[in-house]
Amino acid sequence: MMMKTLLNIPFHRPYVTDEDVANVVNALRSGWLTSGPKTLEFESKFREYIFGQGKGYAVAVNSATSALHLALKALGIKEGDEVLLPANTFVSTAEAVTYLGAVPVLCDIQEDTHNIDVSKIERLITSRTRALIPVHFGGQPCDMEEILDIARRHKLFVVEDAAHCLPSGYKGKRIGKIGDITCFSFYVTKTLCTGEGGMAVTDNEDYACSMRLNRLHGICTDSWGRGEVAKNWSYDVLERGFKYNMSDMNAALGVSQLKKLEWMHAQRERVSKKYDESFIGTKVLPVLIRADRQSSRHLYVIKVNNRDELIDRLKEKGIGTSVHFIPLHSFSYYKKAYRYTKKDFPVSERVFQKSLSLPIYPGLTDIEVEYTVENVLNYAK
Ligand SMILES: *Cc1c(COP(=O)(O)O)cnc(C)c1O
Repeated sequence: MMMKTLLNIPFHRPYVTDEDVANVVNALRSGWLTSGPKTLEFESKFREYIFGQGKGYAVAVNSATSALHLALKALGIKEGDEVLLPANTFVSTAEAVTYLGAVPVLCDIQEDTHNIDVSKIERLITSRTRALIPVHFGGQPCDMEEILDIARRHKLFVVEDAAHCLPSGYKGKRIGKIGDITCFSFYVTKTLCTGEGGMAVTDNEDYACSMRLNRLHGICTDSWGRGEVAKNWSYDVLERGFKYNMSDMNAALGVSQLKKLEWMHAQRERVSKKYDESFIGTKVLPVLIRADRQSSRHLYVIKVNNRDELIDRLKEKGIGTSVHFIPLHSFSYYKKAYRYTKKDFPVSERVFQKSLSLPIYPGLTDIEVEYTVENVLNYAK
Protein backbone atom coordinates (compact mmCIF):
# COMPACT_ATOMS: atom_id res chain seq x y z
CA MET A 1 0.00 0.00 0.00
CA MET A 2 1.43 3.35 -1.01
CA MET A 3 0.31 6.41 0.88
CA LYS A 4 0.95 9.62 -0.96
CA THR A 5 -0.57 12.02 1.54
CA LEU A 6 1.74 13.46 4.13
CA LEU A 7 0.53 12.70 7.64
CA ASN A 8 1.58 14.59 10.72
CA ILE A 9 2.48 12.12 13.47
CA PRO A 10 4.14 13.67 16.51
CA PHE A 11 6.46 11.48 18.56
CA HIS A 12 4.01 11.73 21.42
CA ARG A 13 0.43 12.84 21.99
CA PRO A 14 -0.76 12.69 25.60
CA TYR A 15 -4.04 10.83 25.95
CA VAL A 16 -6.26 13.26 27.85
CA THR A 17 -10.02 12.79 27.57
CA ASP A 18 -12.93 15.11 28.35
CA GLU A 19 -13.43 13.06 31.51
CA ASP A 20 -9.84 13.80 32.55
CA VAL A 21 -10.42 17.50 31.94
CA ALA A 22 -13.65 17.45 33.99
CA ASN A 23 -11.86 15.74 36.87
CA VAL A 24 -9.09 18.32 36.93
CA VAL A 25 -11.67 21.13 36.79
CA ASN A 26 -13.46 19.58 39.79
CA ALA A 27 -10.18 19.56 41.70
CA LEU A 28 -9.71 23.24 40.85
CA ARG A 29 -13.25 24.07 41.98
CA SER A 30 -12.84 22.16 45.24
CA GLY A 31 -10.50 24.89 46.43
CA TRP A 32 -7.75 22.50 47.52
CA LEU A 33 -5.28 22.85 44.64
CA THR A 34 -2.27 21.68 46.66
CA SER A 35 -1.89 18.20 48.23
CA GLY A 36 -5.28 17.27 49.66
CA PRO A 37 -8.05 14.70 49.26
CA LYS A 38 -7.26 13.97 45.59
CA THR A 39 -3.63 13.23 46.39
CA LEU A 40 -4.73 10.84 49.16
CA GLU A 41 -7.18 9.19 46.77
CA PHE A 42 -4.53 8.80 44.07
CA GLU A 43 -2.10 7.27 46.57
CA SER A 44 -4.74 4.91 47.86
CA LYS A 45 -5.82 3.76 44.38
CA PHE A 46 -2.24 3.44 43.16
CA ARG A 47 -1.33 1.49 46.28
CA GLU A 48 -4.18 -0.89 45.59
CA TYR A 49 -3.24 -1.17 41.93
CA ILE A 50 0.27 -2.33 42.84
CA PHE A 51 -0.27 -4.29 46.05
CA GLY A 52 -3.96 -5.31 45.91
CA GLN A 53 -5.00 -6.29 49.43
CA GLY A 54 -1.37 -6.89 50.43
CA LYS A 55 0.82 -4.66 52.58
CA GLY A 56 2.34 -1.68 50.81
CA TYR A 57 2.63 2.09 50.70
CA ALA A 58 2.45 4.65 47.91
CA VAL A 59 3.93 8.12 48.31
CA ALA A 60 2.91 10.70 45.70
CA VAL A 61 5.46 13.32 44.71
CA ASN A 62 6.02 15.90 41.97
CA SER A 63 8.31 13.76 39.78
CA ALA A 64 10.10 10.43 39.53
CA THR A 65 13.34 12.33 40.03
CA SER A 66 12.04 13.45 43.45
CA ALA A 67 10.86 9.90 44.17
CA LEU A 68 14.36 8.54 43.43
CA HIS A 69 15.92 11.18 45.67
CA LEU A 70 13.55 10.46 48.56
CA ALA A 71 14.01 6.70 48.09
CA LEU A 72 17.79 6.90 48.27
CA LYS A 73 17.57 9.20 51.27
CA ALA A 74 15.15 6.83 53.05
CA LEU A 75 17.67 4.02 52.56
CA GLY A 76 20.41 6.12 54.16
CA ILE A 77 22.50 6.70 51.03
CA LYS A 78 25.02 9.41 51.87
CA GLU A 79 28.11 11.26 50.77
CA GLY A 80 30.82 9.02 49.35
CA ASP A 81 28.54 6.00 48.84
CA GLU A 82 28.43 4.42 45.40
CA VAL A 83 25.24 3.53 43.56
CA LEU A 84 25.23 1.40 40.41
CA LEU A 85 23.00 2.20 37.46
CA PRO A 86 22.99 1.64 33.69
CA ALA A 87 24.76 4.05 31.33
CA ASN A 88 21.69 4.02 29.12
CA THR A 89 19.10 5.94 31.13
CA PHE A 90 17.62 9.38 31.51
CA VAL A 91 19.91 11.74 33.40
CA SER A 92 17.67 11.95 36.45
CA THR A 93 18.60 8.42 37.60
CA ALA A 94 22.21 9.54 38.13
CA GLU A 95 21.28 13.04 39.18
CA ALA A 96 19.22 11.76 42.14
CA VAL A 97 22.30 9.87 43.37
CA THR A 98 24.40 13.03 43.25
CA TYR A 99 21.82 15.00 45.29
CA LEU A 100 23.00 12.98 48.30
CA GLY A 101 26.68 13.42 47.51
CA ALA A 102 26.88 9.78 46.44
CA VAL A 103 28.65 8.63 43.27
CA PRO A 104 26.74 7.21 40.29
CA VAL A 105 28.71 4.23 38.95
CA LEU A 106 27.66 3.34 35.43
CA CYS A 107 27.27 -0.21 34.12
CA ASP A 108 27.04 -1.28 30.49
CA ILE A 109 23.87 -2.78 29.02
CA GLN A 110 22.69 -5.87 27.16
CA GLU A 111 22.73 -5.56 23.38
CA ASP A 112 19.31 -7.18 22.84
CA THR A 113 17.13 -5.70 25.63
CA HIS A 114 19.06 -2.45 26.33
CA ASN A 115 18.70 -3.26 30.05
CA ILE A 116 21.59 -3.31 32.53
CA ASP A 117 23.99 -6.21 31.87
CA VAL A 118 23.82 -8.21 35.09
CA SER A 119 27.01 -10.10 34.20
CA LYS A 120 28.94 -6.82 34.48
CA ILE A 121 27.56 -5.62 37.81
CA GLU A 122 29.73 -7.51 40.29
CA ARG A 123 33.08 -6.29 38.96
CA LEU A 124 31.90 -2.72 39.65
CA ILE A 125 30.99 -3.36 43.29
CA THR A 126 33.40 -1.91 45.86
CA SER A 127 33.36 -1.57 49.65
CA ARG A 128 31.49 1.71 49.14
CA THR A 129 28.67 0.36 46.97
CA ARG A 130 25.32 0.66 48.77
CA ALA A 131 22.59 0.30 46.17
CA LEU A 132 21.63 -0.78 42.66
CA ILE A 133 19.18 1.13 40.49
CA PRO A 134 17.94 -1.09 37.68
CA VAL A 135 16.14 0.95 35.01
CA HIS A 136 13.44 -1.04 33.23
CA PHE A 137 14.13 0.23 29.73
CA GLY A 138 11.01 1.03 27.72
CA GLY A 139 8.96 -0.83 30.31
CA GLN A 140 10.70 -4.20 30.04
CA PRO A 141 11.79 -5.39 33.51
CA CYS A 142 15.52 -6.04 34.03
CA ASP A 143 16.84 -9.45 35.12
CA MET A 144 15.49 -8.98 38.64
CA GLU A 145 16.22 -12.50 39.90
CA GLU A 146 19.94 -12.01 39.21
CA ILE A 147 19.85 -8.45 40.53
CA LEU A 148 18.19 -9.48 43.80
CA ASP A 149 20.70 -12.29 44.18
CA ILE A 150 23.66 -9.91 43.72
CA ALA A 151 22.04 -7.44 46.13
CA ARG A 152 21.58 -10.14 48.78
CA ARG A 153 25.14 -11.38 48.51
CA HIS A 154 26.67 -7.89 48.69
CA LYS A 155 24.08 -6.39 51.09
CA LEU A 156 22.90 -3.73 48.67
CA PHE A 157 19.56 -1.97 48.42
CA VAL A 158 17.55 -2.17 45.21
CA VAL A 159 15.73 0.97 44.06
CA GLU A 160 13.90 0.40 40.79
CA ASP A 161 13.64 3.21 38.27
CA ALA A 162 10.23 2.19 36.97
CA ALA A 163 9.57 5.47 35.16
CA HIS A 164 8.50 3.40 32.11
CA CYS A 165 6.72 0.59 33.91
CA LEU A 166 3.04 1.16 34.24
CA PRO A 167 2.09 -1.62 33.96
CA SER A 168 4.95 -4.11 33.72
CA GLY A 169 5.48 -7.55 35.17
CA TYR A 170 8.35 -9.91 35.87
CA LYS A 171 7.72 -13.65 36.17
CA GLY A 172 4.15 -13.07 37.25
CA LYS A 173 4.96 -10.27 39.70
CA ARG A 174 3.86 -6.69 39.09
CA ILE A 175 6.71 -4.15 38.99
CA GLY A 176 6.43 -2.23 42.24
CA LYS A 177 6.48 -5.34 44.44
CA ILE A 178 10.07 -6.46 43.87
CA GLY A 179 12.81 -4.05 45.01
CA ASP A 180 13.11 -2.14 48.30
CA ILE A 181 11.54 0.96 46.74
CA THR A 182 10.15 1.43 43.22
CA CYS A 183 9.77 4.84 41.56
CA PHE A 184 7.22 5.64 38.84
CA SER A 185 6.97 8.74 36.64
CA PHE A 186 3.82 10.51 35.45
CA TYR A 187 5.67 12.93 33.19
CA VAL A 188 3.69 13.92 30.10
CA THR A 189 5.24 11.30 27.80
CA LYS A 190 4.91 8.38 30.23
CA THR A 191 2.22 5.67 30.15
CA LEU A 192 0.10 7.43 32.78
CA CYS A 193 0.48 11.19 32.84
CA THR A 194 -0.36 13.82 35.41
CA GLY A 195 1.63 16.53 33.58
CA GLU A 196 4.37 16.28 36.18
CA GLY A 197 4.33 13.72 38.93
CA GLY A 198 5.79 10.58 40.42
CA MET A 199 5.11 7.85 42.96
CA ALA A 200 7.39 5.86 45.23
CA VAL A 201 6.06 2.50 46.38
CA THR A 202 7.43 0.15 49.03
CA ASP A 203 6.22 -2.51 51.44
CA ASN A 204 8.47 -1.08 54.18
CA GLU A 205 6.71 1.26 56.59
CA ASP A 206 9.88 3.03 57.75
CA TYR A 207 10.89 3.91 54.20
CA ALA A 208 7.36 5.18 53.47
CA CYS A 209 7.39 7.36 56.63
CA SER A 210 10.77 8.81 55.74
CA MET A 211 9.64 9.65 52.19
CA ARG A 212 6.38 11.22 53.44
CA LEU A 213 8.26 13.34 55.94
CA ASN A 214 10.92 14.47 53.49
CA ARG A 215 8.62 15.27 50.59
CA LEU A 216 7.25 18.26 52.52
CA HIS A 217 10.05 20.08 54.36
CA GLY A 218 10.44 17.37 57.01
CA ILE A 219 7.31 18.78 58.59
CA CYS A 220 5.48 16.59 61.01
CA THR A 221 1.84 17.16 61.85
CA ASP A 222 -0.55 14.91 63.77
CA SER A 223 -1.66 12.96 60.76
CA TRP A 224 1.44 10.84 60.34
CA GLY A 225 1.63 10.05 64.05
CA ARG A 226 5.22 11.10 64.60
CA GLY A 227 5.86 13.69 67.28
CA GLU A 228 3.33 15.40 69.46
CA VAL A 229 1.63 18.40 67.93
CA ALA A 230 -0.97 19.95 70.16
CA LYS A 231 -2.56 22.73 68.11
CA ASN A 232 -3.31 22.69 64.42
CA TRP A 233 -1.29 25.84 63.72
CA SER A 234 1.71 24.19 65.21
CA TYR A 235 4.11 21.78 63.62
CA ASP A 236 7.58 20.49 64.07
CA VAL A 237 10.39 20.02 61.55
CA LEU A 238 12.08 16.69 62.12
CA GLU A 239 14.48 16.63 59.19
CA ARG A 240 15.88 18.93 56.52
CA GLY A 241 13.35 17.91 53.91
CA PHE A 242 12.34 18.99 50.42
CA LYS A 243 9.41 20.52 48.56
CA TYR A 244 8.35 17.49 46.54
CA ASN A 245 4.62 17.12 47.21
CA MET A 246 2.05 16.48 44.47
CA SER A 247 -0.78 18.98 43.87
CA ASP A 248 -4.44 17.91 43.86
CA MET A 249 -4.81 19.06 40.25
CA ASN A 250 -2.12 16.63 39.15
CA ALA A 251 -3.52 13.92 41.42
CA ALA A 252 -7.02 14.38 39.97
CA LEU A 253 -5.59 13.70 36.51
CA GLY A 254 -3.77 10.68 37.92
CA VAL A 255 -6.94 9.18 39.45
CA SER A 256 -8.75 9.76 36.18
CA GLN A 257 -5.96 8.22 34.06
CA LEU A 258 -5.55 5.21 36.35
CA LYS A 259 -9.14 4.21 35.53
CA LYS A 260 -8.21 3.68 31.89
CA LEU A 261 -4.71 2.36 32.39
CA GLU A 262 -5.56 -1.18 31.21
CA TRP A 263 -7.26 0.17 28.12
CA MET A 264 -4.35 2.50 27.34
CA HIS A 265 -1.99 -0.44 27.78
CA ALA A 266 -4.04 -2.54 25.35
CA GLN A 267 -3.71 0.27 22.80
CA ARG A 268 0.08 0.27 23.18
CA GLU A 269 0.06 -3.49 22.69
CA ARG A 270 -1.97 -3.06 19.52
CA VAL A 271 0.65 -0.65 18.14
CA SER A 272 3.68 -2.67 19.22
CA LYS A 273 2.21 -5.87 17.78
CA LYS A 274 1.72 -4.19 14.42
CA TYR A 275 5.30 -2.89 14.48
CA ASP A 276 6.62 -6.30 15.57
CA GLU A 277 4.89 -8.10 12.72
CA SER A 278 5.97 -5.54 10.15
CA PHE A 279 9.67 -5.64 11.06
CA ILE A 280 10.15 -9.42 11.08
CA GLY A 281 12.77 -10.39 8.50
CA THR A 282 13.66 -6.77 7.64
CA LYS A 283 16.75 -4.58 8.24
CA VAL A 284 14.98 -3.07 11.19
CA LEU A 285 15.83 -4.62 14.53
CA PRO A 286 13.45 -3.93 17.44
CA VAL A 287 14.52 -4.27 21.07
CA LEU A 288 13.90 -7.84 22.17
CA ILE A 289 11.27 -8.50 24.82
CA ARG A 290 12.00 -11.67 26.83
CA ALA A 291 9.24 -14.24 27.14
CA ASP A 292 9.18 -14.29 30.96
CA ARG A 293 8.28 -10.62 31.40
CA GLN A 294 5.57 -8.17 30.42
CA SER A 295 6.47 -4.76 29.10
CA SER A 296 4.28 -1.69 29.48
CA ARG A 297 5.40 -0.95 25.90
CA HIS A 298 6.25 2.61 26.86
CA LEU A 299 8.81 2.88 24.05
CA TYR A 300 9.19 1.18 20.69
CA VAL A 301 12.91 1.30 20.00
CA ILE A 302 14.44 0.02 16.76
CA LYS A 303 18.02 -0.22 15.54
CA VAL A 304 19.15 0.59 12.00
CA ASN A 305 22.52 1.33 10.37
CA ASN A 306 21.55 4.83 9.22
CA ARG A 307 19.91 6.19 12.36
CA ASP A 308 20.58 9.93 11.80
CA GLU A 309 19.54 9.77 8.16
CA LEU A 310 16.38 7.82 8.97
CA ILE A 311 15.35 10.36 11.62
CA ASP A 312 15.69 13.12 8.97
CA ARG A 313 13.77 11.17 6.34
CA LEU A 314 10.94 10.40 8.76
CA LYS A 315 10.82 14.03 9.80
CA GLU A 316 10.39 15.03 6.15
CA LYS A 317 7.46 12.63 6.02
CA GLY A 318 5.89 14.23 9.10
CA ILE A 319 6.85 11.48 11.54
CA GLY A 320 8.33 12.46 14.89
CA THR A 321 10.90 10.21 16.55
CA SER A 322 13.16 10.38 19.56
CA VAL A 323 16.34 8.74 20.88
CA HIS A 324 16.40 6.85 24.20
CA PHE A 325 18.86 7.52 25.56
CA ILE A 326 21.97 9.57 24.90
CA PRO A 327 24.20 7.58 27.28
CA LEU A 328 25.19 9.39 30.46
CA HIS A 329 28.92 9.02 29.83
CA SER A 330 28.63 11.26 26.75
CA PHE A 331 27.37 14.30 28.65
CA SER A 332 29.91 17.04 29.38
CA TYR A 333 29.07 17.24 33.07
CA TYR A 334 29.35 13.49 33.69
CA LYS A 335 32.51 13.18 31.61
CA LYS A 336 34.14 15.97 33.58
CA ALA A 337 32.89 14.95 37.01
CA TYR A 338 33.55 11.20 36.74
CA ARG A 339 36.02 10.79 33.86
CA TYR A 340 33.83 8.31 32.02
CA THR A 341 34.91 7.44 28.48
CA LYS A 342 33.11 5.78 25.57
CA LYS A 343 35.45 2.81 25.78
CA ASP A 344 34.04 1.94 29.19
CA PHE A 345 30.58 1.26 27.78
CA PRO A 346 31.00 -0.33 24.32
CA VAL A 347 27.51 -1.82 24.13
CA SER A 348 25.71 1.34 25.27
CA GLU A 349 27.75 3.26 22.72
CA ARG A 350 26.99 0.86 19.85
CA VAL A 351 23.32 0.60 20.68
CA PHE A 352 23.00 4.38 20.99
CA GLN A 353 24.47 4.97 17.51
CA LYS A 354 21.75 2.81 15.91
CA SER A 355 18.68 3.44 18.04
CA LEU A 356 15.60 5.51 17.49
CA SER A 357 12.18 5.44 19.12
CA LEU A 358 9.02 5.34 17.01
CA PRO A 359 5.66 6.87 17.97
CA ILE A 360 3.63 4.62 20.29
CA TYR A 361 0.64 5.88 22.26
CA PRO A 362 -3.04 5.08 22.75
CA GLY A 363 -4.37 7.59 20.20
CA LEU A 364 -2.06 6.42 17.38
CA THR A 365 -4.29 5.02 14.63
CA ASP A 366 -3.62 1.89 12.58
CA ILE A 367 -3.27 4.09 9.50
CA GLU A 368 -0.61 6.17 11.26
CA VAL A 369 1.23 3.01 12.30
CA GLU A 370 1.11 1.66 8.72
CA TYR A 371 2.35 4.97 7.34
CA THR A 372 5.21 4.97 9.85
CA VAL A 373 6.15 1.35 9.04
CA GLU A 374 6.08 2.02 5.31
CA ASN A 375 8.42 4.98 5.64
CA VAL A 376 10.74 3.23 8.08
CA LEU A 377 11.07 0.27 5.69
CA ASN A 378 11.57 2.59 2.72
CA TYR A 379 14.46 4.48 4.26
CA ALA A 380 16.11 2.14 6.76
CA LYS A 381 19.50 0.76 5.85
C1 LIG B 1 11.24 10.13 32.63
C2 LIG B 1 12.30 9.39 33.36
C3 LIG B 1 12.69 9.74 34.66
C4 LIG B 1 12.27 11.02 35.31
O1 LIG B 1 10.93 11.17 35.50
P1 LIG B 1 10.38 12.60 35.98
O2 LIG B 1 9.01 12.26 36.50
O3 LIG B 1 10.37 13.49 34.80
O4 LIG B 1 11.28 13.08 37.07
C5 LIG B 1 13.57 8.93 35.33
N1 LIG B 1 14.09 7.83 34.75
C6 LIG B 1 13.75 7.46 33.50
C7 LIG B 1 14.35 6.22 32.94
C8 LIG B 1 12.87 8.25 32.76
O5 LIG B 1 12.57 7.92 31.50
